[in-house]
Amino acid sequence: MQVPEIPVKPDPMAAVENIIAVASGKGGVGKSTIAVNLAVSLAAMGKRVGLIDADVYGPSIPKMFHIEGQRPVARTEEGTEWIVPIEKYGVKLLSVGLFVNPEDAVIWRGPMATGALKQLISQGDWGELDYLLIDLPPGTGDVHLTMVQEVPVTGAVIVSTPQEVALADVIKGINMFAGEKINVPVLGIVENMSWFTPEELPENKYYIFGKDGCKNLAEKMGIKLLGQIPIVQGIRESGDSGEPVALQPDKSPGDAFHLLAHTLEKVIRTRNIELEPTKKVEITTK
Ligand code: ADP
Repeated sequence: MQVPEIPVKPDPMAAVENIIAVASGKGGVGKSTIAVNLAVSLAAMGKRVGLIDADVYGPSIPKMFHIEGQRPVARTEEGTEWIVPIEKYGVKLLSVGLFVNPEDAVIWRGPMATGALKQLISQGDWGELDYLLIDLPPGTGDVHLTMVQEVPVTGAVIVSTPQEVALADVIKGINMFAGEKINVPVLGIVENMSWFTPEELPENKYYIFGKDGCKNLAEKMGIKLLGQIPIVQGIRESGDSGEPVALQPDKSPGDAFHLLAHTLEKVIRTRNIELEPTKKVEITTK
């Protein structure tokens, strides 16, 4: 008897080493800025990096990489259609923003938003990657749930400002990741907009959103503080011009993102080692 062959859909994540979710409790705290500069820093460190803009309600990755208006092409291989990510600054990128007109208001209903993310994940031609970062929408919701159902997430990075109203939502976010439904380890918190230093007064630090809010919260919750990023006009300008500051690793503030990327790498490496089964040690008595 001839058994009909059932085509097996290839797993787009088969060769992706680490999947990192970048999340925030609130919008506007710099989540996309951190995701973009982390991706560029990791790529500059020689890592193979991808970035999915899953912030379907306000995709800003195309602008931050200056690839607005570009359309990813499709490629078919053995009956499977793949979406080829756009590559810039050594990072493979896909965003729903690349499939819609930037000026059009997109009204996403829940299922449409999660469907769009599913497509970027399952049809993305990601190939071999050390890190795939997923820039999530702010808050907690359907997209987060879809993500963990679709891919094995290594861990989440939470971005916040040190301000008290933002911190309340950070706790909610952390509890969501720790909860049964999502159950993704939180790798740490990034405190963004920690202080402002005017160029003409380089010794002065102004704590506009409060001092060490995330640092203190991280300590209280037993979570790692991955880094503190100051408010710098250049960070905002480079986001708008599509040339991330992390492209200049030796210059402030690009160096702050490189330090952050190194810290994150170390945390992930330690975590992966801890998760590996204990290896048998051969002891010779001679
Ligand atoms: P989110 O993804 O949380 O909504 P964004 O990354 O879009 O936030 O950042 C919101 C705004 O703040 C953007 O205009 C961005 O350029 C700016 N921004 C973010 N972080 C910094 C920073 N450390 N210094 C200066 N501007 C920043």
